[in-house]
Amino acid sequence: MQIGSFNITIVSDGQFRLDGGAMFGVVPKALWNKLNPADEQNRILLGLNCLLLERGNEKILIDTGIGNKFDEKFARMYGLKRDKTLLDQLVPKGIDREDITTVIMTHMHFDHIGWNTMIENGELVATFPNADYYVQEGEYCSAQNPDARSRASYIPENWLPLLDTKKFHLLDGITEVLPGIESLVVGGHTAHNSIVKINTGDGIIFFLGDFIPTPSHLKTPYIMGYDLFPLDVMDAKPKFLQQAADEKWLLVFEHAAEPTAGYVSKDGKNWVLENVNLQ
Ligand SMILES: [Zn+2]
Repeated sequence: MQIGSFNITIVSDGQFRLDGGAMFGVVPKALWNKLNPADEQNRILLGLNCLLLERGNEKILIDTGIGNKFDEKFARMYGLKRDKTLLDQLVPKGIDREDITTVIMTHMHFDHIGWNTMIENGELVATFPNADYYVQEGEYCSAQNPDARSRASYIPENWLPLLDTKKFHLLDGITEVLPGIESLVVGGHTAHNSIVKINTGDGIIFFLGDFIPTPSHLKTPYIMGYDLFPLDVMDAKPKFLQQAADEKWLLVFEHAAEPTAGYVSKDGKNWVLENVNLQ
């Protein structure tokens, strides 16, 4: 969809599953299971939605899904399901991986930056050889020296080959990465977790990453058990959503089972989402 100066598409790397309890923290299963039915292993269905922004020759990806550098056991553990990968989704748009000019990461957990790199002729390489890759410096430090709790979420293969290039860039807090595209640190999920704000010239779009991963997480207490600083999310989320409603920001949900974007408004105590198709 053309919005302002950008053509904007949600590109999916497929679907996977995580434990429903871990996805909703202290919220009882009797509540979250209604809208997010768990499978026999108590896992719920989630999406791996990334955002593609096209502006002239610029082809910008925000997050890169889960990738393909894993074995059968990993795929089974995460219930990975897909007919098409993120790269396959780019083909009908006439976009080769060489055409991607920029990759912006919300954070460096494995389900967000998997296609940063790939194996080619037995060698680990940058999937998007001509792209500049951006991440918050604090997040990069957490990924390089993970605390005991976060270690399993960071897989160095997703960034190691990028370090030797001049195309890996660290951001120091709020930064306008490209004209109209800002990385904003919100913390909560990780100490330096970020979201991406796009000023299209015809409205504001936010890619929410793991700040508000699915529409089920719009409710204030629905906070992931994975979040390292849940009280920070609890504080920031309702303020963010109020402003999103007041200023008509278009929100994109990275882990919604199906690609989902929309405008929020308040109906009594509840947030309601008016969907917009960005496919
Ligand atoms: Zn995630």
